[in-house]
Amino acid sequence: MAAKRLAILGSTGSIGTQTLDVVRSHPELFRVDALAANTSDEALERQIEEFHPAVAVLVDENAAARLRERYRGNTEILSGEAGLRTAATFDEVDTVVTSMVGFAGLAPTLAALKARKTIALANKETLVVAGKLVTALAKEKGVSILPVDSEHCALFQCLQGERRDTVERLILTASGGPFRGKTTEELKSVTVEDCLRHPTWSMGKKITVDSATLVNKGLEVIEAHWLYDVPYEKIEVAVHPQSIVHSMVEFRDGAVMAQLGLPDMRLPIQYALTYPVRESADFGRMDFMTRMNLSFEPPDMKTFRGLALAYEAGKAGGTMPCVLNGANEEAVAAFLAGRIGFLDIYDCIEKALDAHENVAAPSFETLCEADAHARAFVRKLLDNKEV
Ligand code: MG
Repeated sequence: MAAKRLAILGSTGSIGTQTLDVVRSHPELFRVDALAANTSDEALERQIEEFHPAVAVLVDENAAARLRERYRGNTEILSGEAGLRTAATFDEVDTVVTSMVGFAGLAPTLAALKARKTIALANKETLVVAGKLVTALAKEKGVSILPVDSEHCALFQCLQGERRDTVERLILTASGGPFRGKTTEELKSVTVEDCLRHPTWSMGKKITVDSATLVNKGLEVIEAHWLYDVPYEKIEVAVHPQSIVHSMVEFRDGAVMAQLGLPDMRLPIQYALTYPVRESADFGRMDFMTRMNLSFEPPDMKTFRGLALAYEAGKAGGTMPCVLNGANEEAVAAFLAGRIGFLDIYDCIEKALDAHENVAAPSFETLCEADAHARAFVRKLLDNKEV
């Protein structure tokens, strides 16, 4: 079988580097044609030397200039949004791994869909802000969107061979993050460092904060809604601190299918890249011969309001999820910079949603405007110290 040709957008980040781990362990299955990163020119250069892609992109022009100055190999070094589009639509590529962070992932994903590339979707924000647009385009072009997110990959595995109209409930599991069980009072004084100490998963900074606020789980509820066309009323979240059950599907006869595994993102990444085939892997194995407890509990949506806000925005539809996402991205950046406290993230999102006038069935341009407005709104709140 000919090797599958890949473009990896966000190749120096957590998902990107783990995708390259998968590629490294199956050199006969994959070939990397395009790599793209934001600013990490040194890490990208090392990847170029190992994987020899035809093109490599640094979105940041200064970073690209630094790399061009010292690089003497055969890979073409591109830059900016145009470079990212070239990588996303590169002729020989079969599958585009979208592992960049945030709203910035939307435009290249749309470009890849238009070019009829299979999407291995790690950038959940794409479906959160533009679920309708993206799923309609994928359908029109006859392109598959394969989930890399561990919960969605679990759902996808549980749904194999099942009729969609027999699905009664999707149950997304959540680790609960580092602050599970804490009260609002206790959350007032948590630091960025506390927040970045995730109990079960090792991930990038933005998603780690999102996990602590439960905004991540909220974004995943919206992502699941669009991926599997299931109404919000039938999507539940169960806190499962061990992160062994990655999600579950309940069917109309009451049967529940679950996918279990150690928390290792390389498994969902590899499944998305090799689907429908399950390839071998040397990832760690579950050991059922040692005592292990799996526990489940309802999420505390009153304290961790991020999840409730995401359900509201998701149900409202239109531009609301885009505003939720934009306000969250801006607030998380301010939190990571030490400008605001943990709970202020919720205030930023809530105020941005309250101030927004929803637009139904938004175009790409309308979404860009809504995103920019939400960010500007949060920046103004912060400048005026209103949170
Ligand atoms: Mg996830």
